[in-house]
Amino acid sequence: MSNITMTDSSNPSGIVYLVGGGPGDPGLITVRGVECLKAAEVVIHDRLANLALLTYAPAGAELIDVGKSPNHHPVPQAQINTLLVEKARAGRRVVRLKGGDPFVFGRGGEEAVALVEAGIPFEVVPGVTSASAAPAYAGIPVTHRGLACSVAFITGHRANPAADPACDWQALAEGPDTLVFLMGVHNLSHIVETLIRHGRPAATPVAVIERATGPDQRTTTGTLADITVRAGEAAVRPPAVIVVGEVVRLREQLRWFRPEVER
Ligand code: SAH
Repeated sequence: MSNITMTDSSNPSGIVYLVGGGPGDPGLITVRGVECLKAAEVVIHDRLANLALLTYAPAGAELIDVGKSPNHHPVPQAQINTLLVEKARAGRRVVRLKGGDPFVFGRGGEEAVALVEAGIPFEVVPGVTSASAAPAYAGIPVTHRGLACSVAFITGHRANPAADPACDWQALAEGPDTLVFLMGVHNLSHIVETLIRHGRPAATPVAVIERATGPDQRTTTGTLADITVRAGEAAVRPPAVIVVGEVVRLREQLRWFRPEVER
């Protein structure tokens, strides 16, 4: 690893590393991600990245939390983009630390576009996305020979997914064997109803995995027919990943993560 150059000395304008911090367990960041943090002069992080990762940054590094502003709302995306550009223009080595993978519902793509437009060099360090890590830690392989040959990662954050023209629910209900929804907890009932309306059998197994990979991970299971009630009874809260498909059945055999096994 020591032969990896962290800066491009021919470029006086600094650089931004868009780093995936993994889904929660600090052991799930990549070696490359840790290298970038160790060399960082500025770290711009948000809520879902495990704060334990910040201890990799040098003592003098500037740490900026954009997950919460003084009025408790996240800093708007445009402001984050500006911050990245300004810090890099000042010649700083900037790590933009994000939960999971920066290019999976992380708005890392938008930040990369802003950097390109500003002429700032950048590197993407992929991370372990909660879309596969949460199911894995719940004992659910998102694909499995004979059960699921395809998987889709879907945003569930729209108030009414049926009204979202960008999302082809017919194709989602009929196409991929496994459906993984992120940001879907508040919309669980809409998601479930929409899938059933478009033809997914109501008996399809569902798992909702909260706080995945952490010591208080919890998984609630059911079917499309009853998961809304079950999740309500369990008072399920974000962040959580929703998995829909036959692979959920494998959990009975494959659950391995100690905090869940011992519960
Ligand atoms: N880039 C991230 C996703 C950001 S969107 C990634 O690749 O994982 C935020 C959503 O991610 C949350 O609403 C939730 O659905 C999911 N998520 C992130 N961390 C999670 C965790 N530890 N447990 C369960 N879901 C998580």
